[in-house]
Amino acid sequence: AIPLVISITTAVSAKAGILVKDRLAIERMRTVDAVLFDKTGTLTKGEHTVAGIAGAEGTDSDEVLHLAAAVESDSEHPLARAIVTYHGHEHGEGAHASDFRSRTGKGVEATVDGRRYAVGGPALLRELDIEAPSELESDIDTWSGRGATVLHLIALGDETKVLGAIALEDEVRPEAKQAIADLRAQGVQKIAMITGDARAVAEAVAADLGFVEGRDEVFAEVLPADKDQAVIGLQQRGLRVAMVGDGVNDAPALARADVGIAIGAGTDVAIESAGVVLASSDPRGVGGVRRLSKASYRKMI
Ligand code: ADP
Ligand code: MG
Repeated sequence: AIPLVISITTAVSAKAGILVKDRLAIERMRTVDAVLFDKTGTLTKGEHTVAGIAGAEGTDSDEVLHLAAAVESDSEHPLARAIVTYHGHEHGEGAHASDFRSRTGKGVEATVDGRRYAVGGPALLRELDIEAPSELESDIDTWSGRGATVLHLIALGDETKVLGAIALEDEVRPEAKQAIADLRAQGVQKIAMITGDARAVAEAVAADLGFVEGRDEVFAEVLPADKDQAVIGLQQRGLRVAMVGDGVNDAPALARADVGIAIGAGTDVAIESAGVVLASSDPRGVGGVRRLSKASYRKMI
């Protein structure tokens, strides 16, 4: 027979849209010190739209869009889909690209009209050891300061250089701020955010969400394979960590955390790695998990 307290907990949680896969995770949730959120898709909607395009080195913005859409045409990444969709709305069918290659967490590359191009973020610029030309600087600073992700179109070859930049905006979920305030009110010491996105973008989103400097924390420009290291780092400081995420690249961190929470229409891998799954994408569900944890503890004693 199932003990009464478990069946009550299960019924309450099902009603609140909380799927409990690991009962111990629910038990641990009430003692969690830090909640680490994935940024894209968890604190933000993960629905990017093109907000600006700029060209450099004699390339105009139409050409930047045209080439970037071609390079991104074989990528499944949400940033890629946003560029291809936007290009389709503006110009219809895109150029043909071949020999597509993905550089996970950094960008993609492909051949268009016999020339090799890449599209990617700051990690890709670092890997190629190049910088955006000064004529793009003010646009890039403005966009990043507003929390928009900036991708660079890069010509690869003898003279590898940045030909332009595209800004992609992603809205912060309207409930995210309240979700964070609720966790604090429930005694969570530290709120943290992790992303593969640029530092400036991550900081802008954190400021928007009311992160407190010195207490809360932002992990930016983290490669997918290193996301679980952030969890381990917090744990090594003696903190009990809940990790909240949705993506394939969040799975190792979800598995490593004291409590792994997969959110909404998360990927199968994220759901598999988590101890708790939220039915909706509303981050306020995380506070609900903590309340459930406290309530079921009270019932047990
Ligand atoms: P997140 O941690 O926000 O889920 P990812 O690890 O998927 O992000 O990607 C991190 C960064 O890698 C992106 O912000 C972007 O700069 C770059 N990137 C990843 N995929 C692509 C792509 N298809 N095209 C361009 N840039 C990409
Ligand atoms: Mg994500």
